[in-house]
Amino acid sequence: ADRLSRIRNTLGAIPDFPKAGILFRDIFPVLRDAEVFKDLNEEIFEASKSYPDVECVVGLESRGFLFGPILAQKLSVPFVPIRKKGKLPGELISQTYELEYGTDCCEIQKGSVSKGQKVLIIDDLLATGGTMKAACDLLEKLEADIVLCLCIIELTGLKGKSKIDKPFKSLITFD
Ligand code: IMP
Repeated sequence: ADRLSRIRNTLGAIPDFPKAGILFRDIFPVLRDAEVFKDLNEEIFEASKSYPDVECVVGLESRGFLFGPILAQKLSVPFVPIRKKGKLPGELISQTYELEYGTDCCEIQKGSVSKGQKVLIIDDLLATGGTMKAACDLLEKLEADIVLCLCIIELTGLKGKSKIDKPFKSLITFD
């Protein structure tokens, strides 16, 4: 818990980014402090331990890529990325989802997750939950078994968690 407070106190908060009225939570100050970054990766690992038999870690572009591979290595399981449309090569499965204005699309490489495989999805932050929900929908298409959706930060006021109908956990919350 003490570790989590130190991580929380190390996070940056930038007003009016990427647009007016948004208070952007910045994870990078944590990565700049080797000890705090180590603590965060340990907290992520600890959180994942309550969900045994994780067989694959799926990270969401782009900050899910900073923590997912470290967790995957600690668990000795594969790491698989979900990316925005047009970034991944080869045969893909896609999922379109709604944004405030318009739609977006995320993709995963075909064959990277197998049917029934127990996956843990990781991202840095849950806001409206749209991104995590799309990742769940995409993995459902592959018939993966989603054992945990894990976010470091959750902006609780946006009620994103209610969109996720899978086990969900966050390490640090802000209203
Ligand atoms: P959502 O789809 O509205 O839940 O937004 C979550 C996605 O947007 C995640 O991939 C986050 O990395 C990113 N995001 C939204 N707000 C912030 C923020 O304040 N700080 C960092 N990333 C954010």
